Order: sequence, then structure tokens, then C-alpha cells
Amino acid sequence: MNRPRAAVVGDPIAHSLSPELFAEFSEAMGRPLHYRRLRLLSVDLDAVLGNVREASPPWIGWSVTIPHKVSILSRLDDLAASAKEAGAVNVIHFKDGRAIGHNTDGEGFLASLEAAKALPRGKKILLLGAGGAARGIGCAMRGAGAGEITVLNRTEEKAKKLAKELGGRGGRLCDSAVLEAAADADLIVNATSLGMGGSGSPVPERVKFRKEAVACDLVYRPALTPFLKAARRGGARTIGGFGMLVAQAAAAWSIWFGEGVPRAVLDSIRSDFEGRSS
Ligand code: NAP
Repeated sequence: MNRPRAAVVGDPIAHSLSPELFAEFSEAMGRPLHYRRLRLLSVDLDAVLGNVREASPPWIGWSVTIPHKVSILSRLDDLAASAKEAGAVNVIHFKDGRAIGHNTDGEGFLASLEAAKALPRGKKILLLGAGGAARGIGCAMRGAGAGEITVLNRTEEKAKKLAKELGGRGGRLCDSAVLEAAADADLIVNATSLGMGGSGSPVPERVKFRKEAVACDLVYRPALTPFLKAARRGGARTIGGFGMLVAQAAAAWSIWFGEGVPRAVLDSIRSDFEGRSS
């Protein structure tokens, strides 16, 4: 039997736990799927997408990660409302020779905040990063009634552009700006790739947070990133990236196969993954 094919595409890609995650979904749901890591350079995007649309056995979808979430948008045949609003795609559904872009990062991020009882309604947000993931989660937080949003990013124009779309303020990511914005933020999110593999952090070691503040990292490997360590030292409650990883992948599964992965399955996979990497 030809199993439908799927992949997580990005560069770098070795860090991704998506193949292990989708293997768990496939087993739990009794639905065979051949899902793999595909290192894809930006220059090869058009050629590979062209081949995949028409391939046999067919591809069902891609999970799209760093650095392609924004640049892939204009190369697709159609976009779901989630991707249009965010201006970023993290899931592609291949159907009838067409590639349709979706964004499930926002939904996955809100699910992880909800599980930690840290929803953004009325909260002052400090969003670190303005790449594809930051777009998805920024748009979702705004939609969920977040209060003032400050976006800081290494490339200042991108911070300003995203902040404008979110009705917030944008600036360059530097220690002084982070220290100032962190001091009165309720929810601080690392949506940069700093911390992947355990090195780098968007906040200085001496950062201090409000007593009730929650710090959330999208990076999930290692589970306790340098950002989360600094946040704990600075007095914040912390949320790692696994909850979002599992929830955004479950949303992708339901786009591809039209069926939800039961909550009990998701909870068990999440605690298994967290256990393995702590
Ligand atoms: P992306 O579109 O390539 O954006 C990368 C972001 O990181 C940009 O804001 C970039 O700033 C910033 N950055 C990269 N290197 C930096 C450095 N040396 N100093 C300061 N800033 C730096 O990638 P993405 O798709 O948004 O992913 C971002 C991270 O989120 C990745 O680690 C990814 O694995 C993680 N993620 C996790 C989940 C999850 O489910 N847990 C979901 C999505 C993403 P510039 O704009 O200046 O380049």
C-alpha cells in the first residue's frame, strides 16, 4: 500500500522532533504515514514544491519551519484565512495538485497557554522575534484580546512592520530595550531561534520580571533553554515549547486527514516527550 508522504521542511532541520511526533499520531490513529525531515535550501523551494505537487505516491503535506514560513507564502496556490492573517505558513496541504498554506502556530501557541492557565487576554506582551513563528503567535494573541504588544527583533524593520500589523510598538532587540520592556510585561515570549541546541538567549542574564509574569519559549530542544533559565532566575513562571509543538502538529493532522487527535493521546505524547528531554 502507498502511504501518503509528508515532511518537515527547513534549514537547519536536524533538531526537529516532528517526525517522532507524527509517528506517534500515525500509530495512535491507525493511519499509515511516511513522514520525514527534509532539509530544504531557500534556492530550491520552487523546484521542490513543483515536483511535490505532482508526485506519486502523493504527498499529503509539509510542516514548514525556519526559515521558510514567510517566503513560501507567495509560492502557494491558495492560503487559508489563518495564513493570510498571520502572513506566514507553517502547514501546507497538498490536494488535487494544489498546495494550500495554513497557519497552526497561533492555535498551537494559544492551546499551550490555555493548558498553563496563562491566556493573553488583557495582558501586556513582550514578543521577542519577528520571523514566521512570531507572526503566527502575534496574530493569535491579538485575536485573543491581548493588551499592549511590544515586538523586539534583531532586524528592526521587521519588528516595526509586525508591531504595526498587531497595533503595537516595535524596536531593535538589544539588552537595554529588553530590560526596559521586560520590567512591566505580563507575558514574555521567545520567538527567535536563539536557544536552539542550548546556546544563545534573547534576554540578558540579569533580566528581572514582574512577580506574576509568565515567560514562554517556542524553542523546545533543550526543554530548559537559556531564556527559560534566565526567566526563572528573574522571577517568572515558565512554559516550554513542547505544548505548542504537539498542539500545532495536531492541528496540521486534522487539516490533512479531517480528523482530530484525541486530547488523551496528545497529553500522553506531550508528557512522554517532556520526560525524555528533561
Ligand atoms: P524564522 O522565520 O527564521 O525567524 C527567526 C527569528 O529569530 C527572527 O526573528 C530572527 O531575527 C531571529 N534570530 C535568528 N538568529 C538570531 C540571532 N543570532 N540574534 C537575534 N535574533 C535572531 O524562524 P521561525 O520559524 O519564526 O522559528 C523561530 C523559532 O521558533 C525556531 O527556534 C523554531 O524552532 C521555533 N518554533 C517552535 C515551535 C513550537 O511548536 N514549539 C513552532 C514554531 C517555531 P531576524 O528577523 O533579525 O533574522
